[in-house]
Amino acid sequence: MFIELLDLLRCINAHEDTWLVASLKAVSSRFVLDGTLGCPTCSAKYAITTGIADFSGGAELPRRKPGQRASTLEREELATRAGAFLNVTEPGATVVLGGSWGSAAQELSLMSEVRVLALNSESGVEESETVGLLLVGSDIPVAPGSVLGVAIDSSFPPGILASAVKAIRPGGRIVGPAEFPPPPDLLVLAHDENYWVAEKGPEVIKLSRADR
Ligand SMILES: [Zn+2]
Repeated sequence: MFIELLDLLRCINAHEDTWLVASLKAVSSRFVLDGTLGCPTCSAKYAITTGIADFSGGAELPRRKPGQRASTLEREELATRAGAFLNVTEPGATVVLGGSWGSAAQELSLMSEVRVLALNSESGVEESETVGLLLVGSDIPVAPGSVLGVAIDSSFPPGILASAVKAIRPGGRIVGPAEFPPPPDLLVLAHDENYWVAEKGPEVIKLSRADR
């Protein structure tokens, strides 16, 4: 994990948003290969092993069969689709790509100049200064409202959607699999037989004005 990407990560336990404290065992050209991220609030520890940060808490992760790596063309098409669905038009923003979407992590990052956190991605997806690899269960370890968009597939527990809603900022989007119902507080913009695209409205705070 590139050292600057560590700033994006947060403890997944239920308490106030806190930074994680990194203790580094092996670092190469500012990439953390081996180390631990510790939460100063609840003392949770998250290991970084061969560059991949593990927030799964031992949850069973879907096994991806080797030899199914998407071709360059497929990855570019996937990146274009993810970029369009999530409306990735802001260089420097952070986007989360989960499961099979993560195959396009490098391509989307280059195409749109964004930082990408790839969750439970297939082997062969490489990390870089703008792509971080994570293992997760049903929690996305980022600060609330800190990401532009989240795309997930059906390899995750449906509970990850609640975490995705928290992670995106107002106006941010989620792409989810047709198997999971879209979160009710989001506006569904589009859907087909495989995926839906939904957007988070402006801050709820504005609604209270109407009461006056
Ligand atoms: Zn914690």
